[in-house]
Amino acid sequence: MPDISSSSRVTFPEGETSDTGIVLLVEALSDDGAMTVVDTTPFHPVDHTWPDQPGDSGTIASGGESVRVTEAVMAAVSDDGSVTVGVDIPVKRGAEGWTWLVAHRLEGAAPAWLAPGAAVQLDVDDARRAGLSRGHTACHLASLALDLALADLWRKDPGTDAMGAPDFEGRANQSSRIHEDGAVDEYRLGKSLRKAGFDTETFAATLAQREESINATLAAWVASGAPSRIVTEGPTIVDRRSWQCELPEGTAEILCGGTHVSSLGEFASISVALDLSDPQLLVMTTTAVAA
Ligand SMILES: [Zn+2]
Repeated sequence: MPDISSSSRVTFPEGETSDTGIVLLVEALSDDGAMTVVDTTPFHPVDHTWPDQPGDSGTIASGGESVRVTEAVMAAVSDDGSVTVGVDIPVKRGAEGWTWLVAHRLEGAAPAWLAPGAAVQLDVDDARRAGLSRGHTACHLASLALDLALADLWRKDPGTDAMGAPDFEGRANQSSRIHEDGAVDEYRLGKSLRKAGFDTETFAATLAQREESINATLAAWVASGAPSRIVTEGPTIVDRRSWQCELPEGTAEILCGGTHVSSLGEFASISVALDLSDPQLLVMTTTAVAA
C-alpha cells in the first residue's frame, strides 16, 4: 500500500512544468471520470475554497503510453482514510487531521498501466500555464493599481493593502476569476462599503478618470520590468505561499496559492476596463498582452 500519509510535494512554485513521480493512488470518481495522485507534481491545482485560478491541464505518461489530465484539483484524505475531491472537501485547505493532495483528473477511465507504484512522467501544458501565470500576476497588479486610484475616496481608514494604499480590494472584492492573459474581478459597492467610509457617488461620477489612472500605473509598472516571484514556506501543497513583486515604489507581498510570471518584462501591456452598469457592482476586466 503506497504512503498517502503526507501531503503532495509540488514544484510549480519554482516555475516547473515537468517532473517525474511515483503513482500513489488511482480512484474512480462519481462523475464516471477518474483521478490519480502522484508523490510529486508540477501541476497547479484549483483551490476548492477560493477558485480564482483554474487548475493546470497536461499529460501523465509511462513506457510510451499517456493519458490526458483535464484539470488538477485538490483532494483531501481524512483521519479514517476516506478521500474527497474538489468542492466536496468539507474543510478549508490546511485543516488539521487531513492529508492534502493534488489530484489529477483524467480524461475518461484510468488506463491499466496507471497503477500505484508506477513511475510516471508529468507534463503540464506550457502555453496554458504561461497564460494563466500572466493572468494571475496581472490580476494582482490591477487590484493594487485600483486601490491607489481610489485612495482619495475614503473618508475613514479602511486598512492598507500590500503597497500601503487604502485597501479597497480587501474591503469590496467578492470574486476573482483568472483566465489565460486576463482576469475578471467583482466588487460589491453596497451599504456596508459606504458605512466603512467609501464615497461611492464621487467614484461613479469619476469612473473614466479612475480607469485612466489605473492604466497609467499599470503601464509604468510594466515598463519597470520588476522581478516577480513565489515565496514558499515549504515543499508541499499546504505550505503557505505568497507572491512578491519588486515594484518601483516598494516590494508588494500578497498571500497567494497561484502561479506567476518571473518578471514584468514578460508583458507588453496590462490594462483594465471598469464597468459600473449595476451601481452596486463594480466589474474590473483585466487584459494582459504577452511581450
Ligand atoms: Zn493570487
